[in-house]
Amino acid sequence: SQSVVIIGAGIVGTNLADELVSRGWKNITVVEQGPLSLPGGSTSHAPGLVFQTNPSKTMTLFAKYTVEKLQSLWKDGQNCFNQLGGLEVATTPERLQELKRKHGYAQSWGIEAHLISSEECLKKYPLLNKGMILGGLHIPSDGLALAARATQILIESTRNAGVKYLEQTVVTGIEQADGHVIGVTTNNGSVPADIVVSCAGFWGVEIGKMIGLKVPLLPLGHQYVKTTAVPGLVGREVNTKINAMNAELPILRHQDQDLYYREHGEQYGIGYYGHRPMPVDAGSLGVTPKDVDDKNMPSRLDFTPEDFAPAWEATKEILPVLRETEIAEGFNGIFSFTPDGGSVVGQAPNLDGFYVAEAVWVTHSAGVARAVAEVLTEGRSRIDIAECELTRFEEVQLSPEYVSETSQQNFVEIYDIIHPLAPKENPRNLRVSPFHARQREQGAFFLEVGGWERPHWYESNADLVKTLPAEWRPVDRDAWSSKFYSPIAAAEAWKTRNAVAMYDMTTFHRFEVAGPGAVHLLQRLTTSDVTKGPGSITHTLLLNTHGGITSDIFVSRLEDNIFQIGGNTATDLSYLAREARGQAKYTPGQWAQVRDITGSTCCLGLWGPRARDVISTVSPDDFSNRGLPYMGVKKTSLAGVPVTMFRKSFVGEYGWEIQTTPEYGQRLWDLLSQSGKPHGLVAAGRAAFNGLRLEKGLRAAGSDMSSEHNPWEAGVTYAIQMDKKADYVGKAALQQLSRKTPTRRLRCLTVDDGRSMILGKEPVFYNGQKAGYVTNAAFGYTVRKPVAYAWLPGNVREGEAVEIEYFGKKIKATVTSDPLHDPQDRRLRS
Ligand code: FAD
Repeated sequence: SQSVVIIGAGIVGTNLADELVSRGWKNITVVEQGPLSLPGGSTSHAPGLVFQTNPSKTMTLFAKYTVEKLQSLWKDGQNCFNQLGGLEVATTPERLQELKRKHGYAQSWGIEAHLISSEECLKKYPLLNKGMILGGLHIPSDGLALAARATQILIESTRNAGVKYLEQTVVTGIEQADGHVIGVTTNNGSVPADIVVSCAGFWGVEIGKMIGLKVPLLPLGHQYVKTTAVPGLVGREVNTKINAMNAELPILRHQDQDLYYREHGEQYGIGYYGHRPMPVDAGSLGVTPKDVDDKNMPSRLDFTPEDFAPAWEATKEILPVLRETEIAEGFNGIFSFTPDGGSVVGQAPNLDGFYVAEAVWVTHSAGVARAVAEVLTEGRSRIDIAECELTRFEEVQLSPEYVSETSQQNFVEIYDIIHPLAPKENPRNLRVSPFHARQREQGAFFLEVGGWERPHWYESNADLVKTLPAEWRPVDRDAWSSKFYSPIAAAEAWKTRNAVAMYDMTTFHRFEVAGPGAVHLLQRLTTSDVTKGPGSITHTLLLNTHGGITSDIFVSRLEDNIFQIGGNTATDLSYLAREARGQAKYTPGQWAQVRDITGSTCCLGLWGPRARDVISTVSPDDFSNRGLPYMGVKKTSLAGVPVTMFRKSFVGEYGWEIQTTPEYGQRLWDLLSQSGKPHGLVAAGRAAFNGLRLEKGLRAAGSDMSSEHNPWEAGVTYAIQMDKKADYVGKAALQQLSRKTPTRRLRCLTVDDGRSMILGKEPVFYNGQKAGYVTNAAFGYTVRKPVAYAWLPGNVREGEAVEIEYFGKKIKATVTSDPLHDPQDRRLRS
């Protein structure tokens, strides 16, 4: 088999070695700079609390697997997980609400969880201050990981299976030839390898630098202390046979004060996130010493007691028994934070065969390791890893300034209650479209994504709300779903369906694929035949070899060998670029250049029944169905502004995406605003857009569907061509899948009472049983109801009733055929 070098023998590296061994890999070397018995990374001092539930399904499922795996690692009659349960308590009404939301996530992702009263919290945790607790969330399967012990067991078992471990060996360089990794350089010589996986934890940035790869993580210090013996716990007899950690109470989180707790025998362990961020330059830590011990390791900085003072006060409040103790010892331990809080996992975009699995908590370690092993073995992970893909970041998000600022912010906010639409506070205004000045004049409310400022609605449309026909008037919302929302969205949606509206589409990813190999590349990677002549647009899918949907893209053929791709993510770009590189390597005549043109272009969506009236006043060109049919593209000019017109729509209305280059942007905006006025044109934002998109049934790759789903399940078979002559990635799998009846499906739901909002990720119940989860939801202004998409068992039929749980309340909904708006595409094609 291919040879693999794993850098780092922490909980991630050793789990990866094990996952590879169990898949039959033979030639594995783990290189570790520290002594193997205690390597000195974050794992060596991790207190190991495992709270599994997370807004991210991926991270939760990684945690669930990690628990299973740690339970299966036995030595001397003990495994590596102490399933004490996890308790998160609320001391504020807002937190109590938040725990209900979290209970929803647990149900959505299949983790048993219970919302419990303050009395029940006290019963489970008698040391709590009764007067403070409003309630809690109890998760029976959470607990304590014995991370360092698990690492030792894994080293022993994988070594017995033939894995080679090189300790006190520092990787100092990555060797490469012809764009592919060929080994690592160490202080003890070279180790050849076909594949290198960096599991170097917070040293990941340093390893990345060796190949010019920006690894977006920031090492930060985090305070952890142990108290002196707690009087009530002294002499307690815990069954140490089944309880290697000498702890009995659930692991505890007091997030209102950024604190967490566990027992260490008679002592208490306290972790604190409320202090100032303490960034560390991993490169400055020097060589790991030979004599690493509990108190002396590179990942452990000196304790700064002044930073811990508020935590100690808050601790004495919530756990009064600790007033009788003192802080016995403390340290500032280092681990990784990232711009969005997720791990970084996957292949480097700039070096084939080089992978990273970093910024991974103990909680997710085995799950991440299994995912990487699956990617290396089968070309994909059973759990979708898009959310932690190394390549998910935009270029601007990889700058050291951005990584530092946002990662520190994530540290500060780690236990905060964060609304799903809440934007970053800083940095803002990194990327603005050329329409920005005009948008501000019109009172745009901006939210941020990928560094871009995106208008969600325009205050200039506020007066329209009063003039809306009764059936279009916005309904009242609860406080949570009213955040980052304005009823103005109803007016903008109404204008789109009944007159015409203009949407800034600049922030959507646009790539150019050009060169003699462009056709071959896109034929090989997409599910549709893209050999139609120039002037055509194809909505198609990118699949993995198992037929799982990795993205949906729009392929527009501008010239014989020039295509424009409407993509979803930065990961799409790096996938296309990597494949193009590989193609050119093996068939040099078939080269294609893939480049990001998002920032060098700008785009307005002009949509609505009166869109043609607007355009006809600024151009004599033929925009009829003959001149530019639905899913057609052509270059032209509008009142002298050179544009490319794409006849397609995300909102299900007649019109175009009108693209130009930024120097003409403001002129294009002004032109359309002026000529649109007599036809009732308004500028409209993402809030209206999202509702209109859902009504039209357009799925969003990444949230509605992922690599875990195939086109039949996701309801996107219109984007696959089984009879396409050319072979393409996933084609063989599709042939198999086409013979199977889907056991689950993405279904459209409408809310029966016409007003109860949901926001996404809520659990769905069918016949009283948890059956699935919501992907996306929005108010459907045209159908006058909240609309949601949800994954449900294949046997659930249209017209059947389901319930969606929102903050502990059950909302009645009905499974509905989709799309809800214009199923025959009449408005698009008219
Ligand atoms: P590490 O354990 O750091 O392993 C990386 C290894 O790579 C190191 O051993 C290092 O020596 C080696 N290495 C680096 N560079 C080189 C090189 N050039 N050559 C050779 N070897 C190299 N997580 C939880 O899930 N629950 C918790 O309760 C929890 N509490 C925490 C409390 C504190 C105080 C801290 C600091 C962290 C905590 N974490 C917790 C986070 C958790 O400890 C880490 O995320 C996890 O241990 C990282 O594991 P790893 O294998 O990726 O990294």
